[in-house]
Amino acid sequence: MAEAKIPYFGFRDFPEGIESRVEAALLQAARQKQYVLGAEVAAFEKAFAEAVGAGFAVGVGNGYDALVLALRAVGVGAGDEVIVPANTFVATGNAVVQVGAKPVFAEPDGITYNLTAAGAAARISPKTKAIVPVHLYGQACEMEPIMELARSAGVKVLEDAAQAHGATYKGHGTGTFGHAGAFSFYPTKNLGALGDAGAVVTTDGGTVEFIRQYRNYGESTKYLNESIGINSRLDTLQAAVLNVKLPFLEKLNRERQRLAKVYLEALKGTGDLVLPYTAPACGHVYHIFNIRTGHRDALQAWLRQQGVHTAIHYPVPIHLQPAYRYLGYKTGDLPVAEEQAATSLSLPLFPGLQEAEQAAVVDGIRSFFK
Ligand SMILES: *Cc1c(COP(=O)(O)O)cnc(C)c1O
Repeated sequence: MAEAKIPYFGFRDFPEGIESRVEAALLQAARQKQYVLGAEVAAFEKAFAEAVGAGFAVGVGNGYDALVLALRAVGVGAGDEVIVPANTFVATGNAVVQVGAKPVFAEPDGITYNLTAAGAAARISPKTKAIVPVHLYGQACEMEPIMELARSAGVKVLEDAAQAHGATYKGHGTGTFGHAGAFSFYPTKNLGALGDAGAVVTTDGGTVEFIRQYRNYGESTKYLNESIGINSRLDTLQAAVLNVKLPFLEKLNRERQRLAKVYLEALKGTGDLVLPYTAPACGHVYHIFNIRTGHRDALQAWLRQQGVHTAIHYPVPIHLQPAYRYLGYKTGDLPVAEEQAATSLSLPLFPGLQEAEQAAVVDGIRSFFK
């Protein structure tokens, strides 16, 4: 028992054999010597768009760039405000700042932890240009009311789907509701590359055209530049990896859901734990299994002693980050987000996590509350 060593995240060969398939694809791609863009990238873009049910996907360097390029594509810039939930990974806020706009942080729902139409409506102003719902921890936001609000306010919706590959709301994939959706393929994400990678999905042809050019210095044809773009191309070797893994996304998500169910059943009614709640129309692919307790820090330390590693997503909400001090927020401004930051703990959950490992996590938590 004292010998347990359970990582918060591990790269495991799940489903079995996937690692050797990935290695073979990498070697093949290297031997093809098409190092930038090319057939692997185009094939992945087509397959990923199909998998999420979007018209198009454009591969970019990472999830942050996917957000930045989506914001630029709809013309967000200086003087604009963009509504962002306060309880997200800092990349969502940074992307807004990167294009010269001002992030306006909104409260998440206290039960699903996701941005809601009501939370966004409270922050709308005449300067609002876009809303960026984040499908946090892998659960889809309630998109219909958010889209209704956006239509009536005349603002764009850009979805941060970096944690929610394959999650659905009313049967439609995350990333397909707003004007565009941003995905990350950071290695630990539900669909992960072996390094940085990302994609924007959209049904809008103009947006596809803009991002295809902008990610490649703004080139329309070789050495003819329509915009002062950047270099944020999806790496060809990463595309080769993603082409192998994409067909297994559903299987990987189903395994995450199975593991989540084990936790949900085993931890029900334990101490003051608040377990993840999935809203009726909102699919959850459990990128993160988040629990809340008033004894968070003590529980984390206790688990650590038993060799169980956990994480916190996220200990400091963006509006209280030192980097965002210039916006003038103070403690107490967004109490729901702050309460979540103070009480949240993320348990080990990843494809390939073993039954005995999960049991040790459960035992550790139960013994803490005894
Ligand atoms: C991972 C993540 C990003 C950023 O993705 P990178 O590929 O690391 O740049 C953005 N938003 C959210 C919510 C994320 O979890």
